[in-house]
Amino acid sequence: MTTRTLFIGMDGATFTVLNDLVAKSGEGPVMPFMAKIFDKGVRGVLRSTPNPLTPPAWVSLMTGRNPGNHGIFDFIRAEERGNDVFFTLYDSRDCKAEMLWSIASRQGKRVAALNFPFTAPPPKNLKGFMLPGFIPWRHLRRNSAPEDLYDRLKTIPDFNPKELAWDFEQEKQALDELTNEDRENWVRYHLPREKQWFCIADYLLREESPDLMAVMFDGVDKLQHQAWLFVDPNLQTGELSEYHLRMRKLCHDYFRQLDSFIEHLVTTAGPDVQVFMASDHGFTSTTEVVRINSYLHEKGYLEWKDVPDTEAGKRREDSMFAYLDWEKTIAYCRTPSSNGINIRVARNPGEAGIKPSDYETVRARLISDLEELKDPITGERIITEIHTREEVFPGASMEDAADLLLVLRDFGFVSIKNKKPVVELRAEIAGTHHPDGVFLAYGRGIKQGVVTEKCDIVDVGATLLYSLGLEVPSDLEGKVPHSIFNEDYLSEHPIVIGTPTNKHVKDNESARIEDDEKEKIMEQLRLLGYME
Ligand SMILES: [Zn+2]
Repeated sequence: MTTRTLFIGMDGATFTVLNDLVAKSGEGPVMPFMAKIFDKGVRGVLRSTPNPLTPPAWVSLMTGRNPGNHGIFDFIRAEERGNDVFFTLYDSRDCKAEMLWSIASRQGKRVAALNFPFTAPPPKNLKGFMLPGFIPWRHLRRNSAPEDLYDRLKTIPDFNPKELAWDFEQEKQALDELTNEDRENWVRYHLPREKQWFCIADYLLREESPDLMAVMFDGVDKLQHQAWLFVDPNLQTGELSEYHLRMRKLCHDYFRQLDSFIEHLVTTAGPDVQVFMASDHGFTSTTEVVRINSYLHEKGYLEWKDVPDTEAGKRREDSMFAYLDWEKTIAYCRTPSSNGINIRVARNPGEAGIKPSDYETVRARLISDLEELKDPITGERIITEIHTREEVFPGASMEDAADLLLVLRDFGFVSIKNKKPVVELRAEIAGTHHPDGVFLAYGRGIKQGVVTEKCDIVDVGATLLYSLGLEVPSDLEGKVPHSIFNEDYLSEHPIVIGTPTNKHVKDNESARIEDDEKEKIMEQLRLLGYME
């Protein structure tokens, strides 16, 4: 058996940084193999989901469907019950669209999927191998497939599940701002972690040659969240401190290692493989904090709840979630990562919230109030785009989306803290997500040295199925970007639109992630910059 398709995911990769890393410098490019793919393959901007956030974006990539159809909008799902809001972590069972691992498996292809979020628990019909990402290491064994995979991995020299999974213990201190030393350790810790994932990918590629080998490296995103200042080529100006130069070098060590992993995997897969690489979103600089709930309070949509002056109260105030008076709040933002606003509608008599018949009017007024949030000096709008969920999340799961999706002028995530002023410059430039990610293709049948037009993240799933020689299900929103393939290849391998996906393959039942681990995940999200 041979591997036909190799997919390498790089969470948060952007051409802003990659272009710099493939550029020829004194000692040659930091990523020489990536430079070769730029020369000998196709590359282009990949448009992320309307909210360019890791969970909806990777799930769109894996399903070929938009969030309105697959139903994953954020890291956490909130449910209003009575006078409180409850939070649960999403997992693969919340995804309402079939993922490509399952689509390919039921058509006889063997797949390996490593470190993708929201793949736990694995689909029951999986033919091949799965080791999910974004879960605590204790959950790895029971969420891996097939059953003996975990024990087989233990035979890999230096295999270390604690290093492989999210290391919640290490970041327990949950600091608002990292010290220089912490930041350096944070970047350093991702080098051996990515190596773990590489070793597993390499092992499965050599031992099993699955038809589709897919692995995701998420260190790119995590590094850029904390170390954007050192990798964005536009920010390397003026006199740079010794610490700055050391951090930049450390980040380059990370990318140099990643480049060698990619080269190794591509070489091992053999000359006939088709290689695709993509990120779930890009990255850019954020320069200001926008305290959206404070603004909604100012405009009379939201009422804060008094926080008791105790340790517990302080923790509550620092948590990921807004602490609000539900009787008096009609619109609020639930999580910084949602960049959304939820309007509270009373569904039953006696419930708090607006009357269903007032929805359109209240929403229109809210939109115009949000448009009015302006830079006092330039008059420029702080919230440059305001989308209704019908516009950006049409589909069967639309009702689970926030009522409004906001895009800030610097693409940052909003803050939900009860603090003033509403808009404030950050003390230091930080990294945040940008809607433009990356897409690259290389190998058999693929054009050389071409920059292609912008593709959409939902196109990647369709492309991987096509590369495997499968039909593209008719209900996928994504399309195969045929212009990246040679004419000869396309005429020998016509793109066929086939039967729709299976709506839901019954998945394995396994325990939800426990509450104590939920807390740790929240802390991790805070560390990634989703909390001011
Ligand atoms: Zn991401």
